[in-house]
Amino acid sequence: MALEVRSHKGRGQNVRFASVALDISTRALEGTFDYAIPEAIEGQVTVGVTVLVPFSHRSAVGYVMATSDEPPKDVAPSRLLAVVQVLAPAAFGPHSAAVARWIAHEYACPLADAVRLFLAPGQKVRVTRESSDAPWELVAEKAAPADARWVSLAPGAQGFEPIRNASRQREVLEALSAGAMRLAELSATIPGASTAVNALAKRGVVTVETRRQIRGGEKTTLSSAHAPRPERLTQGQLAAVAAIDEARSRAAGDVVLVDGVTGSGKTEVYLEAIERTLVSGKGALVLVPEISLTAQTVGRFRSRFGDDVAVLHSRLSTGERFDQWDLVRQGAVHVVVGARSALFAPLANVGLIIIDEEHESSYKQDSSPRYHAREVAARMAQEWGCALVLGSATPSLESLRRCEVGSWRGARWTRVEMSERPGGAVLPKVSIVDMASQFRGGSRSVFSEPLRRALGGVAERREKAVLLLNRRGFANFLMCRECGCVPECPHCSTALTYHERTHALVCHTCGRSWPVRAYPDPSTRCPNCGSRYLGAYGVGTQRVEDELSMLLPKDVEVIRMDADTTRAKGAHQRLLEQFDAAECAVLVGTQMIAKGLDFPEVTLVGVINADTMLKLPDFRAAERTYDLLEQVAGRAGRGGRPGEVIVQTYWATHPAMQAVLAHRRDVFLAPELAERKEASYPPFSRLANVLVWGKNARAVGDASANMAAALREKVAGLPGWEVLGPADCVKARVKDRTRRHVMVKAPLDADLGGVVSECAAGIGRGMGINMALDIDAYDL
Ligand code: ADP
Ligand code: ZN
Ligand code: ZN
Repeated sequence: MALEVRSHKGRGQNVRFASVALDISTRALEGTFDYAIPEAIEGQVTVGVTVLVPFSHRSAVGYVMATSDEPPKDVAPSRLLAVVQVLAPAAFGPHSAAVARWIAHEYACPLADAVRLFLAPGQKVRVTRESSDAPWELVAEKAAPADARWVSLAPGAQGFEPIRNASRQREVLEALSAGAMRLAELSATIPGASTAVNALAKRGVVTVETRRQIRGGEKTTLSSAHAPRPERLTQGQLAAVAAIDEARSRAAGDVVLVDGVTGSGKTEVYLEAIERTLVSGKGALVLVPEISLTAQTVGRFRSRFGDDVAVLHSRLSTGERFDQWDLVRQGAVHVVVGARSALFAPLANVGLIIIDEEHESSYKQDSSPRYHAREVAARMAQEWGCALVLGSATPSLESLRRCEVGSWRGARWTRVEMSERPGGAVLPKVSIVDMASQFRGGSRSVFSEPLRRALGGVAERREKAVLLLNRRGFANFLMCRECGCVPECPHCSTALTYHERTHALVCHTCGRSWPVRAYPDPSTRCPNCGSRYLGAYGVGTQRVEDELSMLLPKDVEVIRMDADTTRAKGAHQRLLEQFDAAECAVLVGTQMIAKGLDFPEVTLVGVINADTMLKLPDFRAAERTYDLLEQVAGRAGRGGRPGEVIVQTYWATHPAMQAVLAHRRDVFLAPELAERKEASYPPFSRLANVLVWGKNARAVGDASANMAAALREKVAGLPGWEVLGPADCVKARVKDRTRRHVMVKAPLDADLGGVVSECAAGIGRGMGINMALDIDAYDL
């Protein structure tokens, strides 16, 4: 072994100790290991640093979770090994360390997975090989961003070939091929980078220079991004700000739910609350769904707080994210606006956490650690003694429920309603169009008669329209075009999923299946009305765009926004700017257009197919549909002109449609809550999903059955616990892997993470069996 690691003898009084979370991929570790801190590096070892430590006859990377003057009780000091080296400076403090531990337990994931959430973007420290040529380098504290040292490829780089053993140089060159990087950042991601950079600079392959620029801070030209401070706040806004003030002053992790209709001025409330937090010398974390983290939103924060804002989201390059992250860590900015992961930004003194559109399912991460940002934020607020603000026009049933009860996990939950739009803007008029009757009337267009007429009006008056095409659940079920009927499982009353390749209707709750051939096969008839139009259901944005261009005069701009047209970096932004600048235009898009857009000239919102999601085998399907419709409806009539919303559906009587029609949430909420309570689904219970997958179908079957059996044994006789399955997943085979799942329902106060991880630990996982434990699962 190349690195000399001596065990510490534990003599002097000045010796300190560190407990370290080891980042070892082969073992799922919840615990930490204790090490002595040698005097030579005493000053460097604090909570949050990345260290190299000896572990089981080799070296391992770990993160310091705590330090202590007291030796650990269960190990003789003479047997204690010592920290070898500090690899990266502190990325988090004791509060975050506590939150990471909580995440690891709550979401049944290895502690290192939870800790990695808090590390610098791009930090990849791992033991690659052990040799004497200093594989590790101490990453120095970064210079102030104003005089950062940048490394870029020089003309001499062309054709330069590093000698065979210079793998660091090769890594550096590869990193630089995407553009210039800061030296500090190179060093944080590639151990030994600065030595390699020096060597390369001597040969004229790279240049090192001092620059004054921080990436990730682009400005916008969108007019609405520079909304001026309003002259006075509305009654609702004042009440919300007062509730937040109280929550902040109680310093106990209280939660305020700002339940405000779209356009009621929630963002203005956030800005006001942040301002007050800054005055008190603390900082604020603001989470916005990735999809609505547009220049428009960011611009509003920047126009109020200027350079005191850092922005973090996944569309930024690693370098941009690093710069923004580093600004926060240096204490140079105090407001962080970002997507889910911005929650883990290294803000020194968190005084306020805000989660906008808190109902959004994108706040649940779908890879380990499978945390929900709302739950982590609630825990963080308690840890920091600050306030958590949740905002939405369609709050999650979980948050509504907690506010009704008044508390959750020891914190107060308060709801403040904002039911009016400032300046007398009124909520748009909504109408529902029954597409089955349009079909019976002979129409085969994706546009109903009323929507066609309304679009004509927009073109005539030179206004703007937004058309939503619901793509989730696309063509995953069969539906009768004449009566709107969707075949359901007679045993589970969940919609059957249509599998085109095997021509089968499958129930993903109980596992039964039926052979079927969809329209135009003449043998298939609707089980409800006997019509032969029982077909896979769905339309694409392309088809909508084509029909639109025939329908509208040539001088109306049609802008399409979906996964295809927004793939390129900045494309999303460009399309919005194009829509903003147009005189008369129609924006056609998928879910991504429903959120947060604030264009005063939009007078018409059309929903092409409101019900595709309703039939997903997901207990939140109705909630998601209602949320989406209410959100998209809120895009109309934001300026002076009145707005109109037209919702096309095959299921006009569904409570979600009726609630949007009446602008009354209770029309949806009352039956939905009754159903959830009856079936004990969240918010009345907790739900975990254990996913098992692998190439060997039998082994997957065995492992999922064993998991179900272990869970059943563990919770037998406990009130409120229930184990469902195993059953095939909705996507039963992905990339040649068989996928099965087991669901667990548990009471609200259950230690669900603890129970599930304990049972999973006992399941044999030979033969390439993978298992994912999803606590408080969203996608089932
Ligand atoms: P929400 O976030 O609830 O959708 P916004 O904060 O975007 O609402 O506000 C909607 C519009 O109303 C914005 O254009 C905003 O500038 C404006 N606005 C917000 N509060 C006020 C107020 N108190 N007086 C006048 N206009 C306001
Ligand atoms: Zn069934
Ligand atoms: Zn029918």
